Amino acid sequence: SDVPGIELNNGTVIPQLGFGVFQIDPSDTAESVQTAFEVGYRHIDTAQMYGNEAEVGEAIAKSGIDRGELWITTKCNNGNHGRVDAQKALDESLSKLGLDHVDLYLIHWPLPGKDLYVDTWKGFEEARADGKVRTIGVSNFQPHHLDRLLEETETVPAINQIELHPHMQQAGLRAYHERHGIKTEAWSPIGQGKGLLDAPELGEIAQAHGKSAAQVVLRWHVQIGNIIFPKSVTPERVRENFDIFDFELTDDDMQKIEGMEKAERLGPDPDTFAR
Ligand code: NAD
Repeated sequence: SDVPGIELNNGTVIPQLGFGVFQIDPSDTAESVQTAFEVGYRHIDTAQMYGNEAEVGEAIAKSGIDRGELWITTKCNNGNHGRVDAQKALDESLSKLGLDHVDLYLIHWPLPGKDLYVDTWKGFEEARADGKVRTIGVSNFQPHHLDRLLEETETVPAINQIELHPHMQQAGLRAYHERHGIKTEAWSPIGQGKGLLDAPELGEIAQAHGKSAAQVVLRWHVQIGNIIFPKSVTPERVRENFDIFDFELTDDDMQKIEGMEKAERLGPDPDTFAR
């Protein structure tokens, strides 16, 4: 396929574009993932929290695609922090997915109020040693959370998956990642489709390239090196979101999008979000 691979700090290579299944109803998930596989996606981003791992597993089993061609990410849910509980959670996810390992396992939220993310990370290191996961990473970590993993554990996360779109560009975290060899995954890459895609700046750029606003934003991510997995249950959009490798944004386009920063979160603040 045309999807570039991004090499991580442990030598594994992740497809830069994948398919996210947050808020896809379990009853629609197997079909949506099947559509994504047919379009050419080989990277799926799910989570224990999403309640649809079993249906992702169903689509994987039915697809007949070689396991080695797939990149499957899941995440440890908030109730399962701690060295032992995190490993139990991974076992449950593997069983639901019908896999003997995942490619990437993430701590979904740092939950600083619980103060268990360092312990959880040590459990992740053990799971990796056991072959249950190839690559370990985190999600929604701020620099001071990452600092503690770097100081208190053996493994630099390969990835931090954070909210990132033109209205929330995360320049500070991206620079931190760059300094420490951590790759950035952008969640809600098209801002959940709502207000963002109606921005006139995007409309102009889209028109100039004969592309949609969603494709322009996804292309912007690709050009700044982010790993993305837009979500859609509409087959046409699943296809549209994959069709971003036949054009290039100009420096001027890139600067216009950079100018759209509002430091505006759609999701919770990782420092106060605790469940
Ligand atoms: P997204 O930015 O991918 O937006 C998805 C929504 O945009 C769809 O529901 C649809 O309404 C719309 N859309 C999709 N394609 C479109 C198109 N081509 N044109 C117009 N509208 C379109 O938002 P998301 O689902 O929140 O994020 C993507 C993935 O990121 C999730 O599925 C999940 O895997 C991951 N995620 C992770 C976290 C986390 O805390 N780690 C949080 C949120 C999402």
